[in-house]
Amino acid sequence: MKNTCLNILFFLVLSLPGILISQSNASRIDSLLNRLRTNEAALRIFFSAMPKGGDLHHHYSGSIYAEKYIEKAKSANAWVNAVTLEIKFDSSGILKDKEWQKFLTLEKELGEYNFQQILLKHFSSKDYSRSDGITSYDDFFETFNRFGSSKNQISNGSGLLWIKQNAIHQNVSYIETMLETIPCGTLPERFNHLNDSLLIYQASNDTIKLFSLFNTLKNNLLSANNKICIQNYLKGLEKEHLRLQIDDSLFTLRYQTYVLRILPPIQVLSQMITSFEAAKEDTLLVGINMVAPEHHPIALRDYRLHMRMFQYCAKTWPKVSVSLHAGELSEGLVSPEDMRFHIQEAVDIAGAKRIGHGTALAYEQDVLSLIERMRTKKTVIEINYYSNRFILGSTHRNHPLYLYHKANIPIVICTDDAGVLRTDHNGEFIQIALDFPNFTYTDFKEFAFNSINYSFIKGVEVRTKLLEKLYRDFTYFENHFIAQYRNIFE
Ligand SMILES: [Zn+2]
Repeated sequence: MKNTCLNILFFLVLSLPGILISQSNASRIDSLLNRLRTNEAALRIFFSAMPKGGDLHHHYSGSIYAEKYIEKAKSANAWVNAVTLEIKFDSSGILKDKEWQKFLTLEKELGEYNFQQILLKHFSSKDYSRSDGITSYDDFFETFNRFGSSKNQISNGSGLLWIKQNAIHQNVSYIETMLETIPCGTLPERFNHLNDSLLIYQASNDTIKLFSLFNTLKNNLLSANNKICIQNYLKGLEKEHLRLQIDDSLFTLRYQTYVLRILPPIQVLSQMITSFEAAKEDTLLVGINMVAPEHHPIALRDYRLHMRMFQYCAKTWPKVSVSLHAGELSEGLVSPEDMRFHIQEAVDIAGAKRIGHGTALAYEQDVLSLIERMRTKKTVIEINYYSNRFILGSTHRNHPLYLYHKANIPIVICTDDAGVLRTDHNGEFIQIALDFPNFTYTDFKEFAFNSINYSFIKGVEVRTKLLEKLYRDFTYFENHFIAQYRNIFE
């Protein structure tokens, strides 16, 4: 009991950034930061040196730079479809026509540099131009389909280690990555006709019938075999995590699994139940998310149904943490009625502890009440500013970031898909510092501490270790950076 009290006290102390640092030190850094805001290079030096804590909104496949996929394909001399640029590591399904060629053959034909550039543009948003006739959101989301089997070739080992090293270089000590869907638990086809029943019950808002059907499907899904499949998956994840020695004194990694919001309802529910069952006790799999374009017709049609599914699962597995992409929308992308309820249903119905993006906040019905509830519940907002700029065309003039801050809703700064967007965690802080001059050094420091305090880490020990490190790193930064910077530049 005594230890628990001490832990809580320690947690509280570490939760209040700045409280143990002298005010004069913080204000000196703040005035330096303000002087640097006119130059991006200077800001990069500043934020590269500043500890950033964790990245809580991080997609595994979208975070690895395309160069890593290309290297893998080249070293394996994989098959490449010269028309579609699809990459395959074995010859299954490859027709013997000229479209499919060996990587090295095609590279020789096109020239190494040209081929590299073609592939980089194909597997990321590099050099994206709106004038090509493709919208930025289609360009972005389509990239994930292009990874195909090359994604599997890099999972997980080399990809996870690359993510770790890249994080350490940026003074990021924790990542919660959305790794993959769990390959277990598919309901037999004979259940498919129930898709219609789910949609009908949802349309009539018949929660009793909905939950009863969810329950029936859950009991059918979680057979002994499926539970073994889930256990084996978790054992494999743990084995790989330990084999790679990912966690150490500099870095800690945890995983979220996810559900695809563009699948038929029965499949979404199957993935969701499997995810909750897997995450209920596991220490590495710490949370559940929902991915794929929120503006996709199926995602829009089934949004309320999906939130009810989360509500049911949260009641069945109350200890499992959920973060949801919600309000990743912009005016004109969808019709007005679809802008009015996504964030509030994620908060109020699904019980999400964290909201990813929340860009369309201002369009929510009764938004001020929603903001009050988010503040009271301490619902965290995961800001992916660079991603919002690219996909939704957000700017500092229409992004609600500062509103969340003024309303005292906890903010964390994240990257979303740094590989596809070809940015990094430092870049997120830089862009926000440039576009939102009202944010002070103390605010940025608070965002960094939020990213550990509001992470889904299970176990006080791991969280305390990360908070201690973050505190030490900030002390070092505050004691050394200004002196060194002034020595050189002033
Ligand atoms: Zn995301």
